[in-house]
Amino acid sequence: MRALTNALSQNRLHHAYLMTGTRGVGKTTLARVMAKALNCETGITPEPCGKCSTCLEIDAGRFVDLIELDAASNTQVDQMRELLEGALYAPARARFKVYIIDEVHMLSRSAFNAMLKTLEEPPEHVKFILATTDPQKVPVTVLSRCLQFNLKQIPVPQIRGQLGHVLAQEGIASEPAALNLIAHAAHGSMRDALSLLDQAIAYGAGEVGEASVRAMLGAVDQEFLFGILDALGHNDGVGLIRIADEMQGRSLSFEAALQDLASLLHKLALVQTVPEALAADDPDALRVQTLAQQFAPEDLQLYYQIALQGRADLNVAPDEYAGFTMTLLRMLAFAPDVSASIGASSPSGGGAVTLEPKPDSRGVAKASPAAISQPPSIAAAPLQTMAAAPPQVEAPRAELPNFEWADLVGRLKVGGMARMLAQHSHLTGIVDNRLDLCVPEAHRHLLEKPYRDKLQLALEEHFGRRLRVEFTLGQPSALTPAQLEDQDRQQKQREAVAAIDRDPFVRELVEHFDARVVDDSVRPASSGQNQEPAGDR
Ligand SMILES: [Zn+2]
Repeated sequence: MRALTNALSQNRLHHAYLMTGTRGVGKTTLARVMAKALNCETGITPEPCGKCSTCLEIDAGRFVDLIELDAASNTQVDQMRELLEGALYAPARARFKVYIIDEVHMLSRSAFNAMLKTLEEPPEHVKFILATTDPQKVPVTVLSRCLQFNLKQIPVPQIRGQLGHVLAQEGIASEPAALNLIAHAAHGSMRDALSLLDQAIAYGAGEVGEASVRAMLGAVDQEFLFGILDALGHNDGVGLIRIADEMQGRSLSFEAALQDLASLLHKLALVQTVPEALAADDPDALRVQTLAQQFAPEDLQLYYQIALQGRADLNVAPDEYAGFTMTLLRMLAFAPDVSASIGASSPSGGGAVTLEPKPDSRGVAKASPAAISQPPSIAAAPLQTMAAAPPQVEAPRAELPNFEWADLVGRLKVGGMARMLAQHSHLTGIVDNRLDLCVPEAHRHLLEKPYRDKLQLALEEHFGRRLRVEFTLGQPSALTPAQLEDQDRQQKQREAVAAIDRDPFVRELVEHFDARVVDDSVRPASSGQNQEPAGDR
């Protein structure tokens, strides 16, 4: 990234730059900092003054020679041509006319071609700053003309720290474990993290506690996971199934459970090898240490493999409950023999999981098969998949009552990623008991099955009947609830920008560029989306 600073200070400027990275890492923020660096009235500089009228107007989003385009909503070639025709004219006031094109991979092929002409022979006074979450979809002919910068995902501790900072400023109480959960769920996006934090505050009635955040995220209580490992350590098959039933009763996601279980196993294995790996402030430190001593390293390796495999197989299992319990029973078959010396019968190394029980397969002994096939047995379990545990209401033919989607989403009893999915959806149609929802490409990551299932369940509870909910990817023809919310979320947006600025990676840049960006508002990336939907893609 120093390359950028150097280029600017030595006036070795490219005509086009491409910022890549996942959502919410600060691509457009950086693009605007660059626009200032190029046009500051003090000269081309890695440290724009932030005080001249150019800097101020760029910050305020009303600088005439800075043209921002959200490709997600402007994919048509005509719009691109019109935009590029403007590029021929000299800037009104600035040194350079700067074009920021966000989500550039969304442009249609013909729009790319139109842009390419300008990129091949760019007028001296034009700079392109492109941003994308998906550089693979940008034609190579365009890529080859850009100086590329990849912005990294914001690491969990960084996000956690920023969340703590925001809460401290607002005087809101929180538990460290709660912030940790949110930081993990945000997958490197500060924007998502702040949005989840917002929900958590509302959900927890003004406090951000671990229990309520877990409930909101549908995250699995660590207690269950520790319970599972305890049961495995004691060859307690009955105990295992009891835990699975309790989780089922709480509608927890078994997929998330297996993922979290794998994470916990990884942690145990790590602690066995590098005891210092356990953070001093880890609320579970004692239990982790105890468990780490209880299992042989190779057992942990094996459970880890089984958990991963079980998660991968969940889709093809008869239902999630069956898939989950079978995975636990498979682990039980390999449970350490409590009396025997650890490691004597460990499976040979290597990554592959052999599914034969240990030579002395007494693992299952105490948890007698009879006990396991009691009421909650796998075979006897009614076909109650998690998604299908809804109210026992006959699907009536009557039409659904009239409602505003955004309004409904506001009242829907659902949290976490499922709520985000609802907020980023647009209702395109209702036929009988079927809801059609359209989700923009940029939010594809919200379409994971557990989120879809959770949203469907919440909708069914809301309407008191079974529903079919169909999702399609596309460009919603109207504002989604999230976009509507964006309109009065300036404050949070400012915080997001400040947060991005505090990322050491971005901060290094900002220190070379302009410290003022922390204070100034930056328009949300979605601000241009009430345009015509795409037509020629
Ligand atoms: Zn300036």
